[in-house]
Amino acid sequence: MVVPCYNEEEVLPETVKELGTILQQLIQVKKIDPNSKLLFVNDGSRDRTWKLIQEFSSKHEYVTGLKFTRNYGHQNALLAGMSVAVKHADMIITIDADLQDDVNAIPKMVDAYLAGNDVVYGVRNSRKTDTVFKRRTALGYYALMKKLGVNLVPDSADYRLLSKRATEALLQYQERNLFLRGMVPLIGFKSTKVYYPRKERFAGESKYPLGKMLHFALDGITSFSIAPIHLILGTGIIIVLISIFLMIYTIYEKLVGNVVSGWSSLMISIWLLGGIQLISLSIIGEYVGKVFTEVKHRPRFNIEEETFSQHFKD
Ligand code: UDP
Ligand code: MG
Repeated sequence: MVVPCYNEEEVLPETVKELGTILQQLIQVKKIDPNSKLLFVNDGSRDRTWKLIQEFSSKHEYVTGLKFTRNYGHQNALLAGMSVAVKHADMIITIDADLQDDVNAIPKMVDAYLAGNDVVYGVRNSRKTDTVFKRRTALGYYALMKKLGVNLVPDSADYRLLSKRATEALLQYQERNLFLRGMVPLIGFKSTKVYYPRKERFAGESKYPLGKMLHFALDGITSFSIAPIHLILGTGIIIVLISIFLMIYTIYEKLVGNVVSGWSSLMISIWLLGGIQLISLSIIGEYVGKVFTEVKHRPRFNIEEETFSQHFKD
């Protein structure tokens, strides 16, 4: 189980306890490998998160950790965890540290895996604990993404199970602007869903404030769809047609002798076009920015420390 952690000292002891219990159950009941691990990825936390991971790691055989040199973000933390875990594991479950995702869905996910699924999505069947704002915006976002031709599993986030080969396939995607919930459906394989109720954060506060959330949402769109460019093209064509009509109309007015009367429509068109051009530029700029970051091929993460080697001495 891969658990990204950013300033999670308040929940971590409970997370270790709950996930540890589930892991022991899986080992006993489902007969999964007794060597199975929890892998906590410390994403540049500024609190005692890493200290706690180290402590738990030396206390429990099943706790391992990975420490980023700085904060690389949730998606990179997940990817790092998966890329390390895939070397040792046949199945990988990613779950947030804050226990918002019901851990009781894990045995169901494992059942689905044992039944032959390579991808098992955790899907929230109740979002009662989310604010009305968050629920509405999420709904709107899924609808928008669908319109843009991006295949997402509604109400699923980064709580899912991937088989070894599914993870290996996912790791083939070399893009830097990660939007895992959009990438996972792209890898194909047999998949299914497991439903669970979304809970309140166990402790601490959300590490996804509104600004970061919007950024993530925009990333999802611009990393997966060029529909906005087509939209601009469509709008541009319509505007050009309208201008041709306006030109004919203006020339006619001039010939008739009403010279001053064109002024207002002229002003309107200048402003309208100016605005549209600015919006177009910003959208194109967004894509250029993407190309820019992609071609740089920067490492997505640098690992500073790890505690898993001591558990795999052979
Ligand atoms: N997280 C992370 N790096 C970040 C932000 C968040 O690793 O820069 C982790 C965080 O510790 C948690 C998960 O990502 O385990 C989801 O974050 P959070 O629960 O705060 O998001 P929310 O549920 O409010 O959307
Ligand atoms: Mg959360």
